[in-house]
Amino acid sequence: MGFILVTGGAGYIGSHVVKELLRRNYKVVVLDNLHKGHKKAVLTPYFEIVDLKKMDSLREVFEKYDIDAVMHFAALSTVAESMKEPFKYYENNILGGLNLLELMREYNIKYFIFSSTAAVYGEPQVVPIPEDHPKNPTNVYGSSKLMFEEILSWYDEIYKLRYVSLRYFNAAGADLEGELGEDHRPETHLIPIVLKTALGQREYIEIYGTDYPTPDGTCIRDYIHVVDLAEAHILALEALFDGMRSEVFNLGNERGYSVREVINIAEKVVGQKIPIKEGQRRLGDPAILIASSNKIKKVLKWQPKFNDLEIMISSAWNWMKKHPFGYSE
Ligand code: UDP
Repeated sequence: MGFILVTGGAGYIGSHVVKELLRRNYKVVVLDNLHKGHKKAVLTPYFEIVDLKKMDSLREVFEKYDIDAVMHFAALSTVAESMKEPFKYYENNILGGLNLLELMREYNIKYFIFSSTAAVYGEPQVVPIPEDHPKNPTNVYGSSKLMFEEILSWYDEIYKLRYVSLRYFNAAGADLEGELGEDHRPETHLIPIVLKTALGQREYIEIYGTDYPTPDGTCIRDYIHVVDLAEAHILALEALFDGMRSEVFNLGNERGYSVREVINIAEKVVGQKIPIKEGQRRLGDPAILIASSNKIKKVLKWQPKFNDLEIMISSAWNWMKKHPFGYSE
C-alpha cells in the first residue's frame, strides 16, 4: 500500500483526518504551504511545504512518493474574505485543485476525497437540505467549491477519477485527546471566538445580525464534531478503494442551533457569562443551514458519535484552555 496524500494536512480539519488515518495504520504524506496551517499540527513525519499553485514543486512530491489516493483540504475558506478577494479564492481553490488533478492523471492516481461545503447551496429552499437541492451559492467561497465539484465530475467522466465530495456544514470541536485543535489566524469562526471571549482575549462576541427570519433573529447552523467529520473521510476513502462510484455527501447533524443558542451552551460549558454585542449582518451569510445526512448514513453507514453541541464546545474548550494561543505555544 502506498501513501495517502493529504493537502492542507496542517489545517484544522486536515490535521484531524491525518490523525485518524495514522490510527488506522495508513501511510500519510502531508502537503501544506503553511499560510494558514501549523507545522505542529502535522502528525506524520512525511511533510512537504509546497504551494498547490506551484506545479513544478508539486510534481516533485508526486515523483518522490508512491501515492494511492489524495485527500484535498488545502483551500481558502472564509466567506467574508472571499467577497473581498474573489481572485485569490478562485486562484487557490480552482487552479490549485486543478494542478493536483492534472498530476493525479499523469501519475495514474484514481481516488480523490474533496472538502466541499454547505455554502454550495446558498439560501435553502427546504431544510434539512438534501444533496440534490438547487445550488445557488451566496458567496465566492461556495461558488469556488461548486465549480470544483463540476470539474471533478468531468475528470470522472473523462479519466475515471473516482471521488467523494463531502459537503461540510459547520465543523466544530477538537481532538478528544487534546493533541489537535482549531487555530485560525485571524479567527473568524463563532465557537472559537466565543471561547476566546470567555478566556478574556476578546471583549465581547459580536452577533452578526439579529434580524434574520429565525425564532431569535440570529443565524442557524448545523454543527458537526471534527472527529465525526474525520471518520466520514476514512469511510469515503475505503468505499472508493472497495469500488464505489463517485458520490457527493452532506455532513451535518440535521439539527440547527442559532448563534444565541451556541453562546448559551458555551456559557454553560465555561461556567461564566460571555459578553455579547449585537451587530450587523455579515455579507454572504444565509439565514439557516441544516443538513440532511441521510445519504451518508445509508450509503457509508456513517454514524456521528459526538452530535451533542455541548460535547463539541467542551472539546474545543479543553484544547483552548491548554493552548490559549493555539499552536504558537
Ligand atoms: N458569527 C457571529 N459572530 C462571529 C462569527 C460568526 O455571529 O464573530 C455567526 C455567523 O454569522 C454564522 C455563524 O455564526 O451565522 C457561524 O459562523 P462561522 O464563521 O463560525 O461559520 P460559517 O457558517 O461561516 O461557516
